[in-house]
Amino acid sequence: MSKLVIVGTVAFDAIETPFGKTDKILGGAATFIGLAASQFNINSAAVSVVGGDFPQEYLDLLSNKNVDISGIEIVKEGKTFFWKGLYHNDMNSRDTLVTELNVLADFQPVVPDAYKDSKVVMLGNLHPLTQLSVLEQMSKKPELVILDTMNFWMDCALDDLHKVIKEIDVITINDEEARQLTGEYSLVVAARKIHEMGPKYVVIKKGEHGALLFNHDNVFYAPALPLEEVFDPTGAGDTFAGGFAGYLAKTDDFSFENMKKAIIYGSTLASFCVEKFGTERMENLKSQDVQKRLHQFKALTQFEIELT
Ligand code: AMP
Repeated sequence: MSKLVIVGTVAFDAIETPFGKTDKILGGAATFIGLAASQFNINSAAVSVVGGDFPQEYLDLLSNKNVDISGIEIVKEGKTFFWKGLYHNDMNSRDTLVTELNVLADFQPVVPDAYKDSKVVMLGNLHPLTQLSVLEQMSKKPELVILDTMNFWMDCALDDLHKVIKEIDVITINDEEARQLTGEYSLVVAARKIHEMGPKYVVIKKGEHGALLFNHDNVFYAPALPLEEVFDPTGAGDTFAGGFAGYLAKTDDFSFENMKKAIIYGSTLASFCVEKFGTERMENLKSQDVQKRLHQFKALTQFEIELT
């Protein structure tokens, strides 16, 4: 089992979907990643920042899930990062209505000493220079660095994003972001171009259409579980990444074959995340629920065919 460092936002989100809307609730990339990774009973630590307005109960929620929160700085006189999103009818596309960086604007991450030798680092969605500074603090080179990012950082910090992409092993982005990053419509060509930027592994998330894993000529595709109800897709990408990173840290095997299983775990956990608003479903998720859904996943994707 490897230790896992998680970097990302711990945030307030306000969400509007065709099924309802919320005021400021718990959100943030590191929150969703941490909750997903906690399913694997590994040692993980979140590195982030919040303001004095952030409720202690939200921090307790993470530490009760065994996520070390000593790397979450509290800026008493500051305000927590706030994001507001509006989903369209198909739930696959969303508009960002508000991004208030607040305490994130001056954030200098500090990796807890006990986690500086972690084998696995999950760089969740944040300013690319903040992601880079976490890598610089590691006492020895991590064996696996996974990065997630979004169009926001491509729009406002593209050069810095390229700097950090050069240093990582796996990138997880959605199809739209892969197209924006490379200027290519074909995801196969986009993955090839991203390989040239540095990462050996490229994971392209396609929402309800599953995820693709590329390692040069090796390609793997996993569908998403067809769900009766999708309530709020917020955090699905981060939950996927948290499941992917958590499984790899737990099994200590960073091969392409094992990454296929990590993708299945990531997709399975993401399928729970979207069933309720915000973090609600992930907060109460039991390992029996996960196992049951993994069985459904296997049944859904397995078939016998005679090949000549
Ligand atoms: P996802 O739905 O997985 O793409 O991630 C949603 C989460 O990302 C929300 O909980 C937001 O708080 C967080 N988020 C939104 N915009 C940003 C941003 N520019 N940087 C970091 N985190 C963000």
